[in-house]
Amino acid sequence: MAENRKLIAGNWKMNGLGAEGIGLARAINDHATGQGAADCDLLVCPPATLLRPVFDALAGGPVFVGGQDCHTQVSGAYTGSISAAMLADGGARYVIVGHSERRHGLGETDALVADKTRAAHAAGLVAIVCIGETEAERDAGRALDVLAAQIAGSLPDDSALDAGRTVIAYEPVWAIGTGRTPSVAQIAEAHGHVRRCLTDRVSAAGNALRLLYGGSVKPDNAAELMAVDNVDGALVGGASLNARDFCAIAIAAVSAAGQ
Ligand code: PEP
Repeated sequence: MAENRKLIAGNWKMNGLGAEGIGLARAINDHATGQGAADCDLLVCPPATLLRPVFDALAGGPVFVGGQDCHTQVSGAYTGSISAAMLADGGARYVIVGHSERRHGLGETDALVADKTRAAHAAGLVAIVCIGETEAERDAGRALDVLAAQIAGSLPDDSALDAGRTVIAYEPVWAIGTGRTPSVAQIAEAHGHVRRCLTDRVSAAGNALRLLYGGSVKPDNAAELMAVDNVDGALVGGASLNARDFCAIAIAAVSAAGQ
């Protein structure tokens, strides 16, 4: 089993107005520095409107800032979109691509996610590439095949399989925002499978890539989930909007890493 430094990433989604978002960022920074949560890598992904203010509020602390999505192009006539270069310019170090709310809500394909991953890398960002099966796919016994296909299609080429450029987030669609989580055995099976898909392509680099679990991670289940083999951290939605809960998840991840 690969032993990688854990990453706890918060996806704020379309939540947060100015003062509220900056306050949340400051509270996360205070909790993180006070209680050992910063012994793992910490990341918050606010809405694009708050990227720079949150980056400024976190300056000098242990928490990185990231984007929630990016366009495939650097600039141009793409009304309403934001490029990876713009995110980097706003202080981002990471960007989430292929989140299920975009794959399933907006019809994003593996090919588009691969192009976004390429764009993220070109801008010097770490791409957090989300994959995950729907409930129907799991019920049909196809979960592992879906994950393999998403990995094959969403990671542009072997050079993307580099721990400094890419993180994979396994997020079963049916676990996002539902309060339901897979069993420990199901997560271990999925992460083991993802790890094998990666090491089949690039052996050493595949072991170093961080694999996050995402889907209803909360302070009360984090210790169990973060201790599963090949789980190198979490992508957290709802619980990342509460500084205490987000940092409690990070602390659970740090203690799981020390076991
Ligand atoms: C997510 O949106 O990536 C997510 C995991 O959400 P939640 O933690 O709320 O299930």
